[in-house]
Amino acid sequence: MQNPMNIDSINFNENVYPCCNHCRYCSAGKKHLDNIPFYRYVRVMERFLDWKEKTNKVKTISSHIMYTHALMTYEQSKKFRELSLRGGYHPLELQMDGCIFMPEDDLERILDGHRRAGYDRYSVTMNGCREIHDLWAGRKGEFDFIMMMAKIGVRLGYERQENILISQSSIPQLQELTNCFDAIGGKKIRSLNPVGYFGWAKMLEKERITRADVPRIPPHLLAYSTLTKDDKEVNHVYGLLKSEREWIEWIPNHVIEVPVNSGIGIHLDSSNIDYLETAPCDDIFNDYVDQYVKKYQPVPDIRVISEKYGDRLNEKIYHLYEIDNKWTDLYNSDQQGT
Ligand code: SF4
Repeated sequence: MQNPMNIDSINFNENVYPCCNHCRYCSAGKKHLDNIPFYRYVRVMERFLDWKEKTNKVKTISSHIMYTHALMTYEQSKKFRELSLRGGYHPLELQMDGCIFMPEDDLERILDGHRRAGYDRYSVTMNGCREIHDLWAGRKGEFDFIMMMAKIGVRLGYERQENILISQSSIPQLQELTNCFDAIGGKKIRSLNPVGYFGWAKMLEKERITRADVPRIPPHLLAYSTLTKDDKEVNHVYGLLKSEREWIEWIPNHVIEVPVNSGIGIHLDSSNIDYLETAPCDDIFNDYVDQYVKKYQPVPDIRVISEKYGDRLNEKIYHLYEIDNKWTDLYNSDQQGT
């Protein structure tokens, strides 16, 4: 956003487990598996954790295993949590979107393993109810499978994180969808957000809601969203939701506090795994910081790109980081054209 270069964290990520969905809004875009064995991932993490403890150059080392966590074994799940905690990072919830279909007993056995490994929350993403959800997830039967998972989750004492997307297609379904979850019960964290401006979802602008759509959302469900909350009611600017027009008017009158520190991402794949396992960690860190600086340094401040690329007639609603993404894309395509 304003090119913070004070790097204080590293996030390792790896695409290990296949996702069986074909979501139209997939933030990952085109998917591929890296096929790096788990022991090699552990080796890289452990040498960087030793380096962090010796040099104190970063505060946290985290890792994200994509695309779904369902197929991690109990041992992998336990190790993954251990490494994350050692890196000063609380592991995210179990991500269960796109889990391969399996009989109820097998799913219960797998979820029980992750529960024993230390997980107490899992997340699912919904864009509608029943066949509408299936259509958006690109897999027939996914809605029923998630409802089966919800029942198992209650039995095992999991908290369910319901990430509910608000779109033109999902609004008429929100009541029925939440009724289905509520009928199952259990502990839950529910959040309603527009489809993020990432990956394939960038092509779904027709589905993005406007201010005029907000009254169509049942009022009691608006409590799970920041759509009707103003600057004083939301802890951080990144939680605010505004139309593109509203952001353009808001930005010049506010100081946007960018994070003082920032993190670099290192994706493990066959092209770099040997290097990550053998080169000095200092050299690897410096290489990736250089790449990060080259990538983000040239993008002008958000005030400049909002002025140049902002669409003052657009009433569609975004988070700040999404509208920043949209304007940065326009800036980058301009640069490529020059
Ligand atoms: S489940 Fe996640 S990774 Fe898989 S297609 Fe959907 S959004 Fe993409």
